[in-house]
Amino acid sequence: MTHKIAVLPGDGIGPEIMEQAVRVLKALDLDLSIDEAPVGGAAYDLKGHPLPPETLALAQASSAVLFGAVGDWKYDKLPREHRPEQAILGLRRQMGLFANLRPAILYPELASASSLKPEIVSGLDILIIRELTGDIYFGQPRGVRTAVDGQFAGEREGYDTMRYAESEIRRIAKVGFESAQKRNRKLCSVDKANVLETSQFWRDIVIDVAKEYPDVELSHMYVDNAAMQLVKAPRQFDVIVTGNIFGDILSDEAAMLTGSIGMLPSASLNSSGQGLYEPSHGSAPDIAGRNIANPLATILSAAMLLRYSLGLPAQADRIESAVRKVLAAGYRTADIFEENTEKVGTAQMGDAVLKALAG
Ligand code: NAD
Repeated sequence: MTHKIAVLPGDGIGPEIMEQAVRVLKALDLDLSIDEAPVGGAAYDLKGHPLPPETLALAQASSAVLFGAVGDWKYDKLPREHRPEQAILGLRRQMGLFANLRPAILYPELASASSLKPEIVSGLDILIIRELTGDIYFGQPRGVRTAVDGQFAGEREGYDTMRYAESEIRRIAKVGFESAQKRNRKLCSVDKANVLETSQFWRDIVIDVAKEYPDVELSHMYVDNAAMQLVKAPRQFDVIVTGNIFGDILSDEAAMLTGSIGMLPSASLNSSGQGLYEPSHGSAPDIAGRNIANPLATILSAAMLLRYSLGLPAQADRIESAVRKVLAAGYRTADIFEENTEKVGTAQMGDAVLKALAG
């Protein structure tokens, strides 16, 4: 069976890092049909829109999208609907990508890159699953109004609505349990059930969904404690599942535990398993075009694509172990370089991964 993959390199370092990830995918000798299309600022320059209809159609017709990064300061003055970042929001919305998966892995060789002590973070391997399309970010009503009652009656007030429908909680909880089944079978659901009705409801539904997954150990944690535990003893976690706003904050906190943004992949999935896979970093215009960007986050995103959208976990393992080998052999791009390692460029890092794959 041919798997259709849409490759959207984007802006800044996007094309350079994508080139390496595509080389790695092609080296696996799988039946892949890979089509490329412009997105972000590059698409705006070519077609007048950051997410042209042809690019969206290609993404929708594919099993998975491999996305580089978008954005550049030169587009900052464009009206909001034409800014490069709108492409990601449009793809999320149009493809119904509701589950954001962000692993935070700290390879032992890179332990000194973390701002935490190596003994706390070395070997860290957690997966944060953030609900992406609901919660206070999208709840209605929202706006600014004049308060009609209470202590501040007559004053202007800003307000948003936190809400989650039962089906939204069920489907993200399912992703949480199923991801835990593929790992160490521990799921921690993060909420604020001691204060928020939405969170208490979230917790009740997660407990109900847990009945279908007796092999997964479920725990619950309040978000304030989770923020603390992530820096105190992060290795206690396997998979964390949480809502949009808490996940937004915790996934960035977890990313920083590793200290190396150039190493972190991510996935956003919809209910039919289609996904968009991208590095967690941006387009790094400050280093674009110089063959110094780290391509590993994108290469690891390609591994996630194989695992989560194409159902090829053994091939994903092959890429991930090739990356481990390359790090163990001492190859480093500038962002993760330390004394006594070998500094390589973007393309040379790609070469090293290809060699490790073959060896
Ligand atoms: P950034 O992640 O692009 O860069 C932050 C810092 O990390 C920079 O110093 C950069 O050089 C470095 N860096 C990032 N990726 C790297 C890599 N692979 N290898 C080596 N170093 C790397 O964030 P920013 O500077 O805040 O944003 C730059 C642009 O990216 C903006 O236009 C922003 O809107 C956009 N952005 C896009 C995405 C996305 O496409 N998903 C995400 C975040 C930011």
